[in-house]
Amino acid sequence: MNIAHWLLDAAQRWPQRAALFDGNRQVADYQAFATRVRQRALQLRHEQGIAPGDRVALLMKNSCDYLELLYAIWWSGAVAVPINSKLHGLEAAWIAGNAGARLIYTDDGQVFGSGNLPGDCREICGYELSAAPESAVAELAQPWPRQDTDLAWLFYTSGTTGRSKGVMLSHGNLMAMSLCYPLDVDPVDGGDAVVYAAPMSHGAGLYNFIHVRCGARHVLPASRGFQAAELFELAQELGPVSLFAAPTMVKRMVEQARQQGYAGEGIKTIVYGGAPMYLADLDQALETFGPRLVQIYGQGECPMSISALAREAIADRDNPDWPAIAASVGRAQSCVEVQVINAQGRVLAPGEAGEIAVRGAPVMLGYWDNPQATQAALVGGWLLTGDIGFLDTRGYLTLTDRSKDVIISGGSNIYPREVEEVLVQHPEVFEACVVGEADAHWGESVVAFVVLRSPGSLDSQALNEWFLAHMASFKKPKKYLFCTELPKNSYGKILKTHLRQSLQDPVEVGNL
Ligand code: AMP
Repeated sequence: MNIAHWLLDAAQRWPQRAALFDGNRQVADYQAFATRVRQRALQLRHEQGIAPGDRVALLMKNSCDYLELLYAIWWSGAVAVPINSKLHGLEAAWIAGNAGARLIYTDDGQVFGSGNLPGDCREICGYELSAAPESAVAELAQPWPRQDTDLAWLFYTSGTTGRSKGVMLSHGNLMAMSLCYPLDVDPVDGGDAVVYAAPMSHGAGLYNFIHVRCGARHVLPASRGFQAAELFELAQELGPVSLFAAPTMVKRMVEQARQQGYAGEGIKTIVYGGAPMYLADLDQALETFGPRLVQIYGQGECPMSISALAREAIADRDNPDWPAIAASVGRAQSCVEVQVINAQGRVLAPGEAGEIAVRGAPVMLGYWDNPQATQAALVGGWLLTGDIGFLDTRGYLTLTDRSKDVIISGGSNIYPREVEEVLVQHPEVFEACVVGEADAHWGESVVAFVVLRSPGSLDSQALNEWFLAHMASFKKPKKYLFCTELPKNSYGKILKTHLRQSLQDPVEVGNL
């Protein structure tokens, strides 16, 4: 089934129900939402020549139009490729090329200029909506037929061993993930609103489906981003609202709420996940907002739906087990099985740490055009997450480490390898290695250890300029540490653990 049927169904059941809000202003009810989506689908088909199965990319900030475009893509039978709008143009163009996208929507239609997009990919502004051709009035009255296993969303996540990989999510994956939400995360009511405070190209965008299915409201903050004070105003005007927030966002919300004496009025649920939430921060959030928090653990390959930690468990601070439970990521969600395995694939006993593996309906089809990576990630029907953790006897899962070395800064994932690749492209750089350093504000920040060909030939500013010419600024190292050599093991592999350790205890590392 095409997931866009959920929109058609909502429009038929509740045509006059409020659907889309630009800030606190309603811009469409469900009838208008579905009508505009169909019109855009016809535009895709007739003006842009998009056929079912074609990939259409979006490089845009959050907006009501973004949601309409996503549904128009599915309505026409095509595949959406949402790209993080903070990426550098070169990175976005690479993704569009890898996905074989025929079209890319941008905020102004002028991001790329001529010759910067691959072969047959065209750029257009996502805000233009022209009338459907008269000859097409009877077409696409329903979403184009799709099977559950047909591709719906190509979700680009960065790999540690090279470029981004396109996670293939089917219509069925998205439905299964969405149906877990009211069972494992939070029941949804038609009177609710979901606020998109984090990028819709990622987890926050994935929460649209269940809210469409239930005929709830969709609120796009006027700032097009995350501002805690704005969010509180929207919650008070349009509540009950729910939102997805990375732990660093929750931290900023707590700071702002305390400054202005706000206690969560209008907020129904804050779903946090995507990175570790420290206990002290969770404690403060509960103190400030009360029992409004739910945690999820997922990854692009099994989006938002590996485990969840329920509101009651998080709020029950009198439970003597609270520290252990609150430090966990909860229990497996309804559509998945979770197990912890060792390097040989043997299932480990409760309490033993190993790689987390997951199996079930939301698990991806594989990586786009990358059978090797798919084979390594999907083994015997199980997805190997690359995360290390353990289960306890009650079924609570705790993450202990991230085997992938990903740096999570301000809720965004930064993969050291891609930062290193940009640095070592500089002719003066001999070697570079990037690690994360704990950062009170961002969760983690990027630190680059750099070995120059001729010591002193470059400084941090020069490297920064080089970096910004190639990659998005949110990935740039906050610190460059110049050294004469990098610590390596006998296989010549750089010892990242030593480098991380040196950040805590610089005297220990002689050659830095
Ligand atoms: P992404 O594929 O970009 O969504 O990143 C997924 C990764 O983020 C996971 O593999 C985990 O390493 C991490 N992650 C996701 N949710 C949580 C959570 N609740 N607590 C700690 N880390 C998390």
